[in-house]
Amino acid sequence: MSIQQWFRPDVLAMQAYHVADATGYLKLDAMENPYRLPDALRAELGQTLAEVALNRYPDPHGDGLKDQLKAVFAIPAAADVVLGNGSDELITLLTQALPADSVVLALEPSFVMYRMNAQLSRMRYVGVPLNDDFTLNLDATLAAIAAHQPAVVFVSYPNNPTGPRFARQQVEAILDAVPGLVVVDEAYQAFAADTFMDLAGQHPQLIVMRTLSKIGLAGLRLGYAAGVPDVIAQLDKVRPPYNVNVLTQAAAKFALRHLDVFDAQAAELRAERSRLAAALSAYAQCTVFPSEANFVTVRVPDAPALFAALKAAGILVKNLHGYHPLLQHCLRLTVGSPDENTAVLAAIDSFFA
Ligand code: PMP
Repeated sequence: MSIQQWFRPDVLAMQAYHVADATGYLKLDAMENPYRLPDALRAELGQTLAEVALNRYPDPHGDGLKDQLKAVFAIPAAADVVLGNGSDELITLLTQALPADSVVLALEPSFVMYRMNAQLSRMRYVGVPLNDDFTLNLDATLAAIAAHQPAVVFVSYPNNPTGPRFARQQVEAILDAVPGLVVVDEAYQAFAADTFMDLAGQHPQLIVMRTLSKIGLAGLRLGYAAGVPDVIAQLDKVRPPYNVNVLTQAAAKFALRHLDVFDAQAAELRAERSRLAAALSAYAQCTVFPSEANFVTVRVPDAPALFAALKAAGILVKNLHGYHPLLQHCLRLTVGSPDENTAVLAAIDSFFA
């Protein structure tokens, strides 16, 4: 007997989700908010967390937290909410609840966990390439929907790792065409100009998924999804009973009472995104893709070389080159603080000089 016989062949062949070691680097590779909580709030949060009963299991449904999320993020009363250990877990729950051998359809390139969860849930995965400029190819998408009849379509809105938000009417056309569910993944909603949340609870096929990660709480691991109650109830059945721990529930409730802090940071990051994009657009060597997220994706003549030069300057970004044919020579730069962005721009300037 050997390990080859104990595990699924596709798992044995898989690569683990790669997270680069960022020790000692200015970390602009993972769409994190550069700011920690202000000192006064950190002290107050410490006191709040000290009161949490760690000997008890968490509230299994997180009802108090869900009510607060509904109130602060304008989730319609008709919608129900399910919580996840990050929105990553919500993707897992959904694919686990769908029929084996049914189809997960996603646009490519997009968030890699759609494909990975399809595979792990023994579903079939169909990826529909975007256009060269990272806009959605609606004809190809509708043709793939007609041909494969997906159980779920994932739409990252705005799209990671490219940056743009697809045209709303195109996503609506997908919703009209799909026989199954459509997940509008709004991980980057705090940086975007549109949302489908107003339709959650109204449209039976629509699940709107979000996360607290990108607004400044990536370490908490809290995702939430809203949809019609019958759909959310199915996800709740496959959810591990205590998937959101007591510290996360307490810290999230605290953070949501101070949303103004995160809103102000998001506003600054949006302004910094414009500054970064404008500065990069000034180089003939850079193609900048219009982003509605907290990162800017650029195409340069030699992405591996620029990635290495930034690393040598102590800056870690994401090298997308090699991930997908459409991402040739692309780098994804997370928007940092003004000083961090100035440092990236200076390093890029010396590279192109
Ligand atoms: N959706 C998209 C589009 C993402 O880019 C990410 C994070 N990279 C996630 C979901 C997962 O976020 P989290 O698990 O931190 O909530």
